[in-house]
Amino acid sequence: MTTSLPSPYSDLIIGTAPPNRRRDTIAVLDPSSGELLSSVPDGTVDDGLAAVDAAAKAFRSWRATSPRGRAEILRRCWEAMTERRDEIARLISLENGKTLSDALGEVDYAAEFFRWYAEETVRTTGQLGTSPNGANQIMVSYEPIGVAVLITPWNFPAAMATRKIAPALAAGCPVVLKPASETPLTSYLIARICAEAGVPDGVINVVTTSRSGEVVSAMLHDPRVRALSFTGSTEVGRVLLREAADTVLKSSMELGGNAPFIVLDDADPDQAVDGLMTAKMRNGGQACTAANRIYVHRSLVGEVSRLLAGRFAELVVGPGTDPATGCGPLINDRAVDKVASLVESAVAAGARVLVGGERPARAGSFYAPTVLVDVPPRADIVRTEIFGPVAAIIAFDSDDEAVRAANDTHLGLAAYVYTSDLRRGLRMAGELEAGMVAVNRGLLSDPAAPFGGVKESGLGREGGSEGMLEFMESKYIATSW
Ligand code: NAP
Repeated sequence: MTTSLPSPYSDLIIGTAPPNRRRDTIAVLDPSSGELLSSVPDGTVDDGLAAVDAAAKAFRSWRATSPRGRAEILRRCWEAMTERRDEIARLISLENGKTLSDALGEVDYAAEFFRWYAEETVRTTGQLGTSPNGANQIMVSYEPIGVAVLITPWNFPAAMATRKIAPALAAGCPVVLKPASETPLTSYLIARICAEAGVPDGVINVVTTSRSGEVVSAMLHDPRVRALSFTGSTEVGRVLLREAADTVLKSSMELGGNAPFIVLDDADPDQAVDGLMTAKMRNGGQACTAANRIYVHRSLVGEVSRLLAGRFAELVVGPGTDPATGCGPLINDRAVDKVASLVESAVAAGARVLVGGERPARAGSFYAPTVLVDVPPRADIVRTEIFGPVAAIIAFDSDDEAVRAANDTHLGLAAYVYTSDLRRGLRMAGELEAGMVAVNRGLLSDPAAPFGGVKESGLGREGGSEGMLEFMESKYIATSW
C-alpha cells in the first residue's frame, strides 16, 4: 500500500494502515543539511502484528519452495541490486550521509549476501550417524525456524538488512524488518527490489515506527515469531535479550564495538596508515568495526601520527552525495555533540590535537576529521565507542602491553594488527579477545565469513554458513532400522 506523501521517495513507502486512515509519520532528514527528505509511516503495535501475520501466512509456502527455487529468487535479488547500484547508493548517501564511494561499497557488500546465500541455499545438508552402542542411527535435519524479526541500525542501512534477510530467506524463513528511524528509505527500496525480483508477498515485511520498544515488544511476544536478529547498541541488545527470554526466542545479537588497531614496531607506517584510513574513516568512523583505540609502538608514533594527520587534513568535508567529499556528516546533531564532548574531555586529560578538533562552520551534522595524540590510556575516548571521524593514538612499549590494553574492555567485536612478521601478527590475533581480527588489513567484512563479536559485543554470527544456521533448528530423529 502506498501513502500519498509528497516526496520523491513516496512511491517506496509500503504501509499497513487502511487507505482511508490518516496516519502519523516519521520525518527522514538529510544529515548534511537538516532538510526533510521524506516521511515514512509511524507504525503502531497493530501494524507490527499485521506484519507478523503476513509473515506467518507466507511461511508455509516459502518453506515449501524448493531450495533451488529459493536460490534462484535470491540470485535475482543480487542481480537487481547490482543493476540498481547507483540508485541505491545515492539513497543511502542521502539519508545516512556517507560518501558516495562508501555507499557504493555498501551496496556491493549488501547485494553479495543475496548471491552468497543463493549458492548456500542448495547446500543445506543433514547428518546421519551411528549411536555409540552401535544399535541405532542418529538422523539430524535442519529446518527453518519460522518468522524472524530483524532490527537494524542506521549506519549500514542496506548491508545490515541484507545480512539478515538473505540467510533468513535462504533458510526458508519469512521476515519482519524494523529499520532504524533515521534511515528507513533504503529498507523500503530493498524490499521493493526484492519483491520485483520475485520474493513472494508476505516473505519480506517492513515496519517503521518511532515507538520501537512498544512495537518490537509486541512482535516478540507473538508466539508465531521464533527468531530475533538484532544489530545495534549493546544497551538496546540487553533490553531485547530480556524481552526474548519471555518466549525463549532464538536470538542473534550484533552489538557495539571498541576495536583496537595495533601498529607493531616492525610495521610499514605507510601501509598501517592506509589500513587506518579504511578501518577508521569508512562511513566517517560510524562503523561497529571502526578502529576506536589506535595503539602505536612508541618508536613509530611520530611518523604514523604525522602521516595520518596529513591524510585527514586532505579530506573534503561535505554532503556525501558530492563526489568530492571524503568525509560526510554524522547521522545527527546528537552524534556530533557526543564526539565533540569526547574530544574535549580527552584534551582536558592531556591529549593533543594534530588536526581537526572542531565543528566545521557550516549547516548540517558535521565534525572535522581529527587526530589526537598523547591520549591517556584511561581517557573516556578510549573506553567509549566514538562513532565519528576521530583517531585517538596511544603509545605502547611492548607486545604484551598492547594486548593487555586491547583486551581491557567488556566489548570484543573487531581488532586490527599491523606487522611485517606474519607469525607475530597471527600469534597476537590468537591473544586478542575479539570475534574478528584483521592482520595487515583495514577491512574485514566479507559475506562468506562469520561476522560477530565476543564478550558484550554479541551472540551468534552473521554471514558464512553460520549465518544461515541462525535461522534454522536442528531436528534429531531417532529410529530403529
Ligand atoms: P540502537 O540505538 O541500538 O538502534 C538500533 C535499532 O534498534 C534501531 O532500529 C532502533 O530503532 C532499534 N531500537 C532502539 N531501541 C529499541 C527498543 N527498546 N526495542 C526495540 N528496538 C529498539 O543503535 P544505533 O545507534 O542505530 O546503531 C549504532 C550501534 O550499532 C553501535 O553501537 C554500533 O557498534 C552497533 N552496530 C553493531 C554492528 C555489528 O554487526 N556488531 C553493526 C552496525 C552497528 P530506532 O531507530 O527507531 O530507535
